Amino acid sequence: MVRNKHCLDTSHRDLSTELFWQRVPAWKDVDEATFLDWKWQAQNTVTKPQQVLDLLKDIVSPAFLEDVREGFKGASMSVRVSPYIFGLIDWDQPYTDPQRIQFVPLKSRFRKDHPLLTFDSLGEQKDSAVPGLTHRYSDKALFLAMDTCTVYCRYCTRSYAVGSNTQDYEKIQLRVNRMRWQRAYDYIRSTPHLEDIVISGGDTYQLKADQVAEIGEALLSIPHVRRLRWATKGPAIMPMKLLTDHDWVDALTGVVEQGRKQNVEVCVHTHFNHPKEITDITQRSLSVLFQRGITVRNQSVLIRGVNDDPEIMKMLVKRLAYVNIHPYYVYVHDLVSGAEDLRTTVGSAVAIEKQVRGSTAGFKTPTFVVDAPGGGGKRDAHSYEHYNRETGVSVYRSPAVNPDKLYYYCDPIDLLPESGQARWADPSEHDRIIAEATEAALANRHQEAHERKSLLHLPMTSANDVEDVEMSGAIEVLG
Ligand SMILES: *Cc1c(COP(=O)(O)O)cnc(C)c1O
Ligand code: SF4
Repeated sequence: MVRNKHCLDTSHRDLSTELFWQRVPAWKDVDEATFLDWKWQAQNTVTKPQQVLDLLKDIVSPAFLEDVREGFKGASMSVRVSPYIFGLIDWDQPYTDPQRIQFVPLKSRFRKDHPLLTFDSLGEQKDSAVPGLTHRYSDKALFLAMDTCTVYCRYCTRSYAVGSNTQDYEKIQLRVNRMRWQRAYDYIRSTPHLEDIVISGGDTYQLKADQVAEIGEALLSIPHVRRLRWATKGPAIMPMKLLTDHDWVDALTGVVEQGRKQNVEVCVHTHFNHPKEITDITQRSLSVLFQRGITVRNQSVLIRGVNDDPEIMKMLVKRLAYVNIHPYYVYVHDLVSGAEDLRTTVGSAVAIEKQVRGSTAGFKTPTFVVDAPGGGGKRDAHSYEHYNRETGVSVYRSPAVNPDKLYYYCDPIDLLPESGQARWADPSEHDRIIAEATEAALANRHQEAHERKSLLHLPMTSANDVEDVEMSGAIEVLG
Protein backbone atom coordinates (compact mmCIF):
# COMPACT_ATOMS: atom_id res chain seq x y z
CA MET A 1 0.00 0.00 0.00
CA VAL A 2 1.67 3.21 -1.19
CA ARG A 3 0.30 6.30 0.53
CA ASN A 4 2.47 8.87 -1.19
CA LYS A 5 1.39 9.37 -4.80
CA HIS A 6 4.87 10.60 -5.77
CA CYS A 7 6.13 7.09 -5.14
CA LEU A 8 4.15 5.84 -8.14
CA ASP A 9 5.93 8.25 -10.47
CA THR A 10 7.97 6.43 -13.11
CA SER A 11 9.32 9.48 -14.92
CA HIS A 12 12.87 8.51 -13.93
CA ARG A 13 12.59 5.94 -16.72
CA ASP A 14 11.93 8.58 -19.38
CA LEU A 15 15.43 9.03 -20.72
CA SER A 16 15.99 11.61 -23.42
CA THR A 17 16.43 10.13 -26.92
CA GLU A 18 16.59 13.56 -28.57
CA LEU A 19 19.42 14.74 -30.81
CA PHE A 20 19.80 17.49 -28.21
CA TRP A 21 23.24 18.72 -29.37
CA GLN A 22 21.77 19.85 -32.70
CA ARG A 23 20.22 22.83 -30.90
CA VAL A 24 23.74 24.32 -30.80
CA PRO A 25 24.06 26.01 -34.23
CA ALA A 26 27.63 24.80 -34.78
CA TRP A 27 26.55 21.18 -34.31
CA LYS A 28 23.19 21.23 -36.10
CA ASP A 29 24.47 18.86 -38.79
CA VAL A 30 26.34 16.50 -36.49
CA ASP A 31 24.71 13.09 -36.77
CA GLU A 32 24.43 10.56 -33.99
CA ALA A 33 27.29 8.34 -35.15
CA THR A 34 29.65 11.32 -35.11
CA PHE A 35 28.36 12.52 -31.76
CA LEU A 36 28.92 9.07 -30.25
CA ASP A 37 32.53 9.01 -31.41
CA TRP A 38 34.58 9.72 -28.29
CA LYS A 39 37.35 11.24 -30.43
CA TRP A 40 34.90 13.75 -31.87
CA GLN A 41 33.82 14.56 -28.30
CA ALA A 42 37.44 15.03 -27.22
CA GLN A 43 38.32 17.15 -30.26
CA ASN A 44 35.26 19.36 -29.85
CA THR A 45 35.55 19.75 -26.10
CA VAL A 46 35.36 23.41 -25.25
CA THR A 47 38.57 24.44 -23.51
CA LYS A 48 38.73 28.21 -23.95
CA PRO A 49 36.31 30.88 -22.77
CA GLN A 50 36.32 32.34 -26.28
CA GLN A 51 34.98 29.04 -27.69
CA VAL A 52 32.08 29.18 -25.26
CA LEU A 53 31.32 32.71 -26.34
CA ASP A 54 31.58 31.81 -30.03
CA LEU A 55 29.23 28.84 -29.68
CA LEU A 56 26.70 30.91 -27.80
CA LYS A 57 26.72 34.21 -29.62
CA ASP A 58 23.59 33.54 -31.68
CA ILE A 59 21.53 31.72 -29.10
CA VAL A 60 21.75 33.76 -25.91
CA SER A 61 21.16 37.41 -25.08
CA PRO A 62 24.06 39.89 -25.23
CA ALA A 63 23.61 40.50 -21.50
CA PHE A 64 24.05 36.82 -20.71
CA LEU A 65 27.08 36.61 -23.00
CA GLU A 66 28.66 39.50 -21.12
CA ASP A 67 27.88 37.79 -17.81
CA VAL A 68 29.74 34.68 -19.04
CA ARG A 69 32.69 36.73 -20.32
CA GLU A 70 33.07 38.47 -16.96
CA GLY A 71 32.42 35.22 -15.11
CA PHE A 72 35.39 33.55 -16.79
CA LYS A 73 37.61 36.44 -15.80
CA GLY A 74 36.85 35.88 -12.15
CA ALA A 75 36.93 32.06 -12.13
CA SER A 76 39.83 30.23 -10.51
CA MET A 77 39.76 27.22 -12.86
CA SER A 78 40.17 26.64 -16.54
CA VAL A 79 37.10 25.80 -18.59
CA ARG A 80 36.49 22.37 -20.08
CA VAL A 81 33.06 21.19 -21.21
CA SER A 82 32.32 18.25 -23.49
CA PRO A 83 29.84 18.66 -26.38
CA TYR A 84 27.64 16.14 -24.56
CA ILE A 85 27.22 18.45 -21.57
CA PHE A 86 27.30 21.66 -23.57
CA GLY A 87 24.52 20.32 -25.78
CA LEU A 88 22.41 19.27 -22.81
CA ILE A 89 22.31 22.81 -21.48
CA ASP A 90 19.01 24.52 -22.17
CA TRP A 91 20.33 27.80 -23.57
CA ASP A 92 16.80 29.23 -23.51
CA GLN A 93 17.00 29.06 -19.71
CA PRO A 94 20.72 29.66 -19.18
CA TYR A 95 20.48 31.21 -15.72
CA THR A 96 18.73 28.25 -14.14
CA ASP A 97 19.97 25.34 -16.22
CA PRO A 98 21.61 22.78 -13.88
CA GLN A 99 24.50 21.96 -16.21
CA ARG A 100 25.23 25.63 -16.92
CA ILE A 101 25.36 26.28 -13.18
CA GLN A 102 27.95 23.55 -12.71
CA PHE A 103 30.34 24.32 -15.54
CA VAL A 104 29.95 27.88 -16.80
CA PRO A 105 30.57 30.68 -14.26
CA LEU A 106 28.56 33.92 -14.32
CA LYS A 107 29.76 37.19 -12.88
CA SER A 108 26.27 38.10 -11.67
CA ARG A 109 26.06 35.00 -9.48
CA PHE A 110 29.40 35.50 -7.80
CA ARG A 111 29.49 35.71 -3.99
CA LYS A 112 32.30 36.43 -1.59
CA ASP A 113 34.11 33.40 -0.14
CA HIS A 114 33.33 32.40 3.42
CA PRO A 115 35.85 34.07 5.77
CA LEU A 116 36.92 30.70 7.15
CA LEU A 117 37.58 29.14 3.75
CA THR A 118 41.05 27.77 3.22
CA PHE A 119 42.62 26.82 -0.09
CA ASP A 120 43.04 23.05 0.25
CA SER A 121 40.04 22.90 2.55
CA LEU A 122 40.13 19.12 3.02
CA GLY A 123 43.78 19.14 4.07
CA GLU A 124 44.74 16.65 1.35
CA GLN A 125 48.20 18.10 0.93
CA LYS A 126 48.83 17.80 4.64
CA ASP A 127 47.87 14.11 4.51
CA SER A 128 49.95 13.54 1.42
CA ALA A 129 52.21 10.53 2.06
CA VAL A 130 54.20 10.95 -1.15
CA PRO A 131 53.32 13.49 -3.87
CA GLY A 132 49.94 12.57 -5.31
CA LEU A 133 49.03 9.99 -2.68
CA THR A 134 46.68 11.03 0.10
CA HIS A 135 46.69 8.61 3.00
CA ARG A 136 44.31 9.76 5.70
CA TYR A 137 42.38 6.66 6.76
CA SER A 138 44.30 3.67 7.98
CA ASP A 139 43.31 1.13 5.33
CA LYS A 140 42.58 3.27 2.27
CA ALA A 141 44.41 5.84 0.21
CA LEU A 142 43.73 8.18 -2.65
CA PHE A 143 46.14 7.92 -5.57
CA LEU A 144 46.00 11.07 -7.71
CA ALA A 145 47.26 9.57 -10.94
CA MET A 146 46.99 12.68 -13.10
CA ASP A 147 45.68 16.18 -12.88
CA THR A 148 43.45 16.61 -15.90
CA CYS A 149 39.75 15.91 -16.13
CA THR A 150 37.15 15.29 -18.81
CA VAL A 151 35.47 18.43 -17.53
CA TYR A 152 36.39 21.13 -15.07
CA CYS A 153 33.80 21.55 -12.37
CA ARG A 154 33.30 24.89 -10.73
CA TYR A 155 32.88 23.15 -7.40
CA CYS A 156 36.06 21.07 -7.57
CA THR A 157 37.68 20.37 -4.22
CA ARG A 158 40.99 19.83 -5.92
CA SER A 159 41.19 23.11 -7.72
CA TYR A 160 44.60 23.44 -6.03
CA ALA A 161 45.82 20.64 -8.29
CA VAL A 162 43.40 20.13 -11.14
CA GLY A 163 43.43 22.12 -14.32
CA SER A 164 45.97 24.37 -15.84
CA ASN A 165 45.90 27.45 -17.99
CA THR A 166 48.03 25.87 -20.66
CA GLN A 167 46.45 23.37 -22.98
CA ASP A 168 49.34 21.19 -24.13
CA TYR A 169 51.15 20.14 -21.01
CA GLU A 170 50.10 16.51 -21.04
CA LYS A 171 53.33 15.08 -22.40
CA ILE A 172 55.45 16.74 -19.76
CA GLN A 173 53.02 15.62 -17.08
CA LEU A 174 53.20 11.99 -18.16
CA ARG A 175 56.97 11.77 -17.88
CA VAL A 176 56.79 13.23 -14.42
CA ASN A 177 53.90 10.97 -13.58
CA ARG A 178 55.72 7.70 -14.25
CA MET A 179 58.28 8.52 -11.58
CA ARG A 180 55.64 9.81 -9.25
CA TRP A 181 53.49 6.70 -9.79
CA GLN A 182 56.45 4.51 -8.92
CA ARG A 183 56.89 6.33 -5.60
CA ALA A 184 53.21 5.88 -4.88
CA TYR A 185 53.39 2.13 -5.64
CA ASP A 186 56.47 1.84 -3.42
CA TYR A 187 54.67 3.58 -0.59
CA ILE A 188 51.60 1.35 -0.95
CA ARG A 189 53.77 -1.77 -1.16
CA SER A 190 55.61 -0.84 2.02
CA THR A 191 52.40 -0.01 3.92
CA PRO A 192 50.82 -3.40 4.63
CA HIS A 193 47.70 -2.06 6.38
CA LEU A 194 46.55 -0.38 3.13
CA GLU A 195 43.82 -2.48 1.48
CA ASP A 196 41.85 -0.04 -0.58
CA ILE A 197 43.15 2.31 -3.30
CA VAL A 198 41.08 5.00 -4.97
CA ILE A 199 42.67 5.87 -8.31
CA SER A 200 41.61 9.43 -8.91
CA GLY A 201 42.91 12.70 -10.16
CA GLY A 202 41.90 14.42 -12.11
CA ASP A 203 39.92 11.79 -13.83
CA THR A 204 40.96 8.27 -14.84
CA TYR A 205 39.03 8.73 -18.12
CA GLN A 206 42.02 10.85 -19.13
CA LEU A 207 44.42 7.91 -18.85
CA LYS A 208 45.32 6.10 -22.02
CA ALA A 209 44.33 2.44 -22.25
CA ASP A 210 47.88 1.20 -21.66
CA GLN A 211 48.18 3.45 -18.62
CA VAL A 212 45.01 1.97 -17.15
CA ALA A 213 46.49 -1.48 -17.69
CA GLU A 214 49.85 -0.41 -16.24
CA ILE A 215 48.43 1.14 -13.07
CA GLY A 216 46.02 -1.75 -12.61
CA GLU A 217 48.79 -4.30 -12.99
CA ALA A 218 51.11 -2.46 -10.61
CA LEU A 219 48.49 -2.18 -7.89
CA LEU A 220 47.21 -5.73 -8.34
CA SER A 221 50.75 -7.01 -7.87
CA ILE A 222 50.71 -5.74 -4.28
CA PRO A 223 49.36 -8.62 -2.21
CA HIS A 224 47.66 -6.60 0.53
CA VAL A 225 45.65 -4.46 -1.93
CA ARG A 226 42.10 -5.88 -1.83
CA ARG A 227 40.03 -3.16 -3.45
CA LEU A 228 40.59 -0.75 -6.34
CA ARG A 229 38.26 2.00 -7.44
CA TRP A 230 38.70 3.99 -10.63
CA ALA A 231 37.26 7.43 -10.03
CA THR A 232 35.97 9.16 -13.12
CA LYS A 233 33.38 11.75 -13.87
CA GLY A 234 33.61 10.58 -17.48
CA PRO A 235 30.40 8.51 -17.63
CA ALA A 236 28.46 11.68 -16.73
CA ILE A 237 30.39 13.93 -19.10
CA MET A 238 31.29 11.76 -22.07
CA PRO A 239 29.35 8.50 -21.67
CA MET A 240 29.87 7.48 -25.32
CA LYS A 241 33.55 6.76 -24.63
CA LEU A 242 32.26 3.51 -23.12
CA LEU A 243 30.57 2.72 -26.45
CA THR A 244 33.35 3.73 -28.83
CA ASP A 245 36.74 3.69 -27.06
CA HIS A 246 37.11 -0.07 -27.13
CA ASP A 247 40.78 -0.03 -26.07
CA TRP A 248 40.02 1.88 -22.90
CA VAL A 249 37.01 -0.23 -21.93
CA ASP A 250 38.97 -3.43 -22.68
CA ALA A 251 41.88 -2.22 -20.54
CA LEU A 252 39.53 -1.50 -17.66
CA THR A 253 37.81 -4.83 -18.12
CA GLY A 254 41.19 -6.55 -18.12
CA VAL A 255 42.04 -5.06 -14.73
CA VAL A 256 38.60 -5.99 -13.35
CA GLU A 257 38.98 -9.58 -14.57
CA GLN A 258 42.52 -9.90 -13.27
CA GLY A 259 41.29 -8.56 -9.95
CA ARG A 260 38.43 -11.05 -9.90
CA LYS A 261 40.90 -13.91 -10.37
CA GLN A 262 42.80 -12.63 -7.34
CA ASN A 263 39.64 -11.96 -5.30
CA VAL A 264 40.28 -8.24 -5.51
CA GLU A 265 37.28 -6.01 -6.09
CA VAL A 266 37.85 -3.52 -8.91
CA CYS A 267 35.06 -1.06 -9.64
CA VAL A 268 34.30 2.39 -11.02
CA HIS A 269 33.21 5.43 -9.03
CA THR A 270 31.53 8.18 -11.00
CA HIS A 271 29.89 11.51 -10.43
CA PHE A 272 26.43 12.44 -11.72
CA ASN A 273 24.67 15.40 -10.12
CA HIS A 274 21.42 15.84 -11.99
CA PRO A 275 18.89 13.49 -13.61
CA LYS A 276 19.15 15.39 -16.92
CA GLU A 277 22.75 14.15 -17.24
CA ILE A 278 21.39 10.63 -17.65
CA THR A 279 20.12 10.12 -21.21
CA ASP A 280 19.48 7.20 -23.49
CA ILE A 281 23.17 7.47 -24.48
CA THR A 282 24.12 7.07 -20.82
CA GLN A 283 22.00 3.97 -20.50
CA ARG A 284 23.51 2.35 -23.57
CA SER A 285 27.01 3.28 -22.42
CA LEU A 286 26.64 2.09 -18.85
CA SER A 287 25.14 -1.15 -20.02
CA VAL A 288 28.53 -1.97 -21.59
CA LEU A 289 30.05 -1.97 -18.10
CA PHE A 290 27.11 -3.79 -16.52
CA GLN A 291 27.26 -6.54 -19.14
CA ARG A 292 30.90 -7.03 -18.25
CA GLY A 293 30.04 -7.28 -14.59
CA ILE A 294 31.71 -3.99 -13.64
CA THR A 295 30.19 -2.29 -10.61
CA VAL A 296 29.67 1.46 -10.91
CA ARG A 297 28.92 3.65 -7.90
CA ASN A 298 28.02 7.32 -7.87
CA GLN A 299 29.12 10.23 -5.72
CA SER A 300 27.14 13.44 -6.12
CA VAL A 301 27.71 16.89 -4.75
CA LEU A 302 24.74 18.73 -3.33
CA ILE A 303 24.65 21.95 -5.36
CA ARG A 304 22.40 24.93 -4.91
CA GLY A 305 19.98 25.32 -7.79
CA VAL A 306 21.04 21.97 -9.25
CA ASN A 307 19.94 19.17 -6.97
CA ASP A 308 19.16 20.73 -3.57
CA ASP A 309 15.54 19.75 -3.97
CA PRO A 310 14.07 16.51 -2.64
CA GLU A 311 12.14 15.73 -5.84
CA ILE A 312 15.18 16.23 -8.06
CA MET A 313 17.40 14.24 -5.73
CA LYS A 314 14.89 11.36 -5.62
CA MET A 315 14.69 11.45 -9.41
CA LEU A 316 18.49 11.37 -9.64
CA VAL A 317 18.78 8.44 -7.25
CA LYS A 318 16.08 6.41 -9.00
CA ARG A 319 17.43 7.18 -12.45
CA LEU A 320 20.95 6.16 -11.41
CA ALA A 321 19.58 2.88 -10.12
CA TYR A 322 17.63 2.48 -13.37
CA VAL A 323 20.88 2.56 -15.39
CA ASN A 324 22.57 0.16 -12.93
CA ILE A 325 24.61 2.69 -10.99
CA HIS A 326 24.71 2.51 -7.20
CA PRO A 327 24.13 5.89 -5.55
CA TYR A 328 26.87 5.87 -2.91
CA TYR A 329 27.43 9.36 -1.49
CA VAL A 330 25.92 12.81 -1.69
CA TYR A 331 28.49 15.32 -0.46
CA VAL A 332 27.60 18.55 1.19
CA HIS A 333 29.50 21.02 -1.01
CA ASP A 334 33.04 21.63 0.24
CA LEU A 335 34.30 25.10 1.02
CA VAL A 336 35.81 25.93 -2.36
CA SER A 337 36.95 29.36 -3.44
CA GLY A 338 34.73 31.07 -6.01
CA ALA A 339 31.88 28.59 -5.62
CA GLU A 340 29.96 30.12 -2.73
CA ASP A 341 26.85 30.46 -4.90
CA LEU A 342 26.82 26.65 -5.30
CA ARG A 343 26.94 25.67 -1.64
CA THR A 344 23.96 24.73 0.47
CA THR A 345 23.44 24.28 4.19
CA VAL A 346 23.93 21.17 6.31
CA GLY A 347 20.30 21.64 7.34
CA SER A 348 19.08 21.28 3.76
CA ALA A 349 21.23 18.19 3.24
CA VAL A 350 19.71 16.54 6.29
CA ALA A 351 16.18 17.48 5.19
CA ILE A 352 16.72 16.07 1.68
CA GLU A 353 18.28 12.89 3.00
CA LYS A 354 15.20 12.32 5.11
CA GLN A 355 12.99 12.47 2.03
CA VAL A 356 15.20 10.29 -0.13
CA ARG A 357 15.58 7.48 2.39
CA GLY A 358 12.74 5.06 1.77
CA SER A 359 11.94 6.21 -1.76
CA THR A 360 13.74 3.26 -3.34
CA ALA A 361 15.82 0.20 -2.39
CA GLY A 362 18.02 0.79 0.63
CA PHE A 363 21.09 -0.45 -1.24
CA LYS A 364 20.42 2.19 -3.90
CA THR A 365 20.14 4.97 -1.34
CA PRO A 366 23.11 7.33 -0.95
CA THR A 367 24.62 8.43 2.33
CA PHE A 368 24.70 12.19 2.76
CA VAL A 369 28.10 13.27 4.06
CA VAL A 370 30.15 16.29 5.00
CA ASP A 371 33.82 15.93 4.13
CA ALA A 372 34.99 17.57 7.33
CA PRO A 373 37.26 20.57 6.64
CA GLY A 374 40.70 20.14 8.13
CA GLY A 375 40.99 16.47 7.24
CA GLY A 376 38.29 14.80 9.34
CA GLY A 377 37.11 12.75 6.40
CA LYS A 378 33.52 11.97 5.52
CA ARG A 379 30.96 12.26 8.28
CA ASP A 380 27.23 11.49 8.09
CA ALA A 381 25.73 14.94 7.52
CA HIS A 382 23.30 14.42 10.41
CA SER A 383 25.96 13.17 12.85
CA TYR A 384 27.14 16.60 13.99
CA GLU A 385 27.92 17.14 17.66
CA HIS A 386 26.31 20.52 17.38
CA TYR A 387 24.69 22.63 14.67
CA ASN A 388 23.82 26.28 15.01
CA ARG A 389 21.40 27.23 12.26
CA GLU A 390 21.83 30.92 12.99
CA THR A 391 25.60 31.01 12.41
CA GLY A 392 25.58 27.96 10.11
CA VAL A 393 28.40 26.31 12.04
CA SER A 394 28.28 22.54 12.46
CA VAL A 395 30.81 20.63 14.53
CA TYR A 396 31.82 17.05 13.81
CA ARG A 397 34.02 14.48 15.43
CA SER A 398 35.84 11.76 13.54
CA PRO A 399 37.09 9.26 16.13
CA ALA A 400 38.60 6.90 13.55
CA VAL A 401 40.77 9.72 12.19
CA ASN A 402 41.53 11.68 15.34
CA PRO A 403 39.57 11.03 18.54
CA ASP A 404 40.55 14.34 20.12
CA LYS A 405 39.80 16.79 17.41
CA LEU A 406 36.72 18.75 16.45
CA TYR A 407 35.99 19.65 12.84
CA TYR A 408 33.91 22.60 11.71
CA TYR A 409 31.80 23.14 8.65
CA CYS A 410 30.25 26.51 7.82
CA ASP A 411 27.07 27.02 5.83
CA PRO A 412 27.16 29.73 3.15
CA ILE A 413 26.51 33.07 4.79
CA ASP A 414 23.89 34.31 2.33
CA LEU A 415 21.59 31.43 3.29
CA LEU A 416 21.70 32.25 7.01
CA PRO A 417 19.01 34.20 8.84
CA GLU A 418 19.74 37.91 8.97
CA SER A 419 20.98 37.78 12.55
CA GLY A 420 23.57 35.17 11.55
CA GLN A 421 24.66 37.16 8.52
CA ALA A 422 25.14 40.21 10.74
CA ARG A 423 27.43 38.29 13.08
CA TRP A 424 29.66 37.11 10.24
CA ALA A 425 29.76 40.65 8.84
CA ASP A 426 31.65 41.65 11.99
CA PRO A 427 35.13 40.05 11.97
CA SER A 428 35.49 40.51 15.72
CA GLU A 429 32.60 38.03 16.15
CA HIS A 430 34.27 35.18 14.27
CA ASP A 431 36.30 33.73 17.15
CA ARG A 432 33.28 33.92 19.39
CA ILE A 433 31.08 32.09 16.88
CA ILE A 434 33.57 29.22 16.79
CA ALA A 435 34.06 29.26 20.56
CA GLU A 436 30.32 28.98 21.16
CA ALA A 437 30.04 26.09 18.74
CA THR A 438 32.98 24.38 20.40
CA GLU A 439 31.49 24.72 23.84
CA ALA A 440 28.15 23.33 22.72
CA ALA A 441 29.86 20.43 20.93
CA LEU A 442 31.94 19.61 24.00
CA ALA A 443 28.87 19.59 26.21
CA ASN A 444 27.35 17.09 23.83
CA ARG A 445 30.52 15.03 23.74
CA HIS A 446 30.74 15.06 27.51
CA GLN A 447 27.22 13.69 27.70
CA GLU A 448 27.94 11.03 25.12
CA ALA A 449 31.11 10.03 26.91
CA HIS A 450 29.12 9.39 30.05
CA GLU A 451 26.60 7.28 28.20
CA ARG A 452 28.97 5.22 26.12
CA LYS A 453 32.29 5.45 27.84
CA SER A 454 33.37 1.88 27.42
CA LEU A 455 32.38 1.75 23.78
CA LEU A 456 33.94 4.96 22.58
CA HIS A 457 37.05 5.10 24.77
CA LEU A 458 36.59 8.81 25.05
CA PRO A 459 38.84 10.83 27.28
CA MET A 460 36.54 12.65 29.68
CA THR A 461 36.64 16.36 29.03
CA SER A 462 36.17 18.79 31.82
CA ALA A 463 35.11 22.38 31.49
CA ASN A 464 38.76 23.34 32.08
CA ASP A 465 39.77 21.63 28.85
CA VAL A 466 37.47 23.74 26.75
CA GLU A 467 40.16 26.30 26.10
CA ASP A 468 42.54 23.72 24.59
CA VAL A 469 40.11 22.03 22.28
CA GLU A 470 38.71 25.34 21.28
CA MET A 471 42.17 26.42 20.21
CA SER A 472 42.92 23.34 18.18
CA GLY A 473 39.49 23.64 16.63
CA ALA A 474 40.02 27.25 15.74
CA ILE A 475 43.42 26.48 14.25
CA GLU A 476 41.93 23.64 12.27
CA VAL A 477 39.20 25.70 10.78
CA LEU A 478 41.60 28.49 9.95
CA GLY A 479 43.98 26.07 8.27
C1 LIG B 1 36.89 9.72 0.18
C2 LIG B 1 38.24 9.30 0.48
C3 LIG B 1 38.57 7.94 0.53
C4 LIG B 1 37.52 6.86 0.30
O1 LIG B 1 36.54 6.90 1.30
P1 LIG B 1 35.25 5.98 1.30
O2 LIG B 1 34.42 6.51 2.39
O3 LIG B 1 35.70 4.59 1.56
O4 LIG B 1 34.61 6.09 -0.03
C5 LIG B 1 39.87 7.61 0.83
N1 LIG B 1 40.80 8.56 1.09
C6 LIG B 1 40.50 9.88 1.06
C7 LIG B 1 41.55 10.87 1.39
C8 LIG B 1 39.22 10.29 0.75
O5 LIG B 1 38.93 11.60 0.70
S1 SF4 C 1 35.90 15.84 -12.54
FE1 SF4 C 1 36.28 15.69 -10.32
S2 SF4 C 1 38.45 16.19 -10.04
FE2 SF4 C 1 37.84 16.89 -12.10
S3 SF4 C 1 37.24 19.06 -11.87
FE3 SF4 C 1 35.37 17.83 -11.64
S4 SF4 C 1 35.17 17.44 -9.43
FE4 SF4 C 1 37.30 18.10 -9.84
